[in-house]
Amino acid sequence: MLSVVPTPLTVRAPAKVNLHLGVGDVRPDGFHELVTVFQALSLHDDVTLTPSDALSLHVTGDGARDVPTDPTNLAARAVVALAERYDRDPNMRIDIAKGIPVAGGMAGGSADAAAALLGAATLWGLDIGRDELDEVAATLGSDVPFSLHGHTALGTGRGERLIPALARGEFHWTLALARDGLSTPAVYHELDRLREAGDPPRAGSPDALLAAVASGDPHRLAPLLVNDLQAAALSLQPGLRRTLRAGMEAGALAGIVSGSGPTCAFLCASADDAVDVGTELAGAGVCRTVRVASGPVPGATVVP
Ligand code: ATP
Repeated sequence: MLSVVPTPLTVRAPAKVNLHLGVGDVRPDGFHELVTVFQALSLHDDVTLTPSDALSLHVTGDGARDVPTDPTNLAARAVVALAERYDRDPNMRIDIAKGIPVAGGMAGGSADAAAALLGAATLWGLDIGRDELDEVAATLGSDVPFSLHGHTALGTGRGERLIPALARGEFHWTLALARDGLSTPAVYHELDRLREAGDPPRAGSPDALLAAVASGDPHRLAPLLVNDLQAAALSLQPGLRRTLRAGMEAGALAGIVSGSGPTCAFLCASADDAVDVGTELAGAGVCRTVRVASGPVPGATVVP
């Protein structure tokens, strides 16, 4: 029986938070060596692909004005990279509905790239496995393979080498979205500068954190959350200290800058607590807006 791929085709891809982000030294290729534990959250972008006579991009939703609609957009780069590798016609209309904050440290662009890769491979009926898709994903960005896979995973290298991690139950998060974004390269440069000036503490092994994730106990996980980029993000946006403090005062178990920031992620004891923390944060005027989310969730998925 012939399976017919519906067009337009929509793929949903999740945001991520780094539960553990250990940043090592700069490698000869300019990237930092990372040891990180990602978790995919129920905050997502939807990417819709429609075959067309030209490649075009249309972006709606939160922060859409700050997303490029030219060939530098990661979703467009994903379609072009896959088309070149498998000799296909990249012409299609790409519609991105943003739910993930732009330049927020939650891998929004990577989510769009992962969604576009899976969508284009499905539309073209490519007979390729996840390994091949992962290979293309890693050429587009360090977080793109994780956006394809989702759930909880240990990432090494630039973050692109993944080992799935066991996670029990559901963790509840409140996210405080900032008014202005932070550029990921600028945050890494700031960390390098701080490390030249002194010797800020570095995250150790993620083993205890991985055990806490497997236990499903947020109280056990909370004190183990760690992010080596946090000091650099706070140095560039000192106001985030107030946001982190406000979340703790509102009853979160722990607060952490997400990835390169400036989104602050608060781990909460329950879904109800996450809503309460969000309500207090919204009223405290310490962020642009708040979202509640849970994790882990799957990676890029075709929407039926
Ligand atoms: P990460 O957490 O992976 O470091 P981020 O979440 O901080 O990334 P993104 O939302 O991915 O940041 O955006 C970073 C920059 O990438 C944006 O400022 C934008 O100029 C560019 N960009 C390219 N394609 C996209 C896309 N599809 N969505 C969002 N930003 C994109």
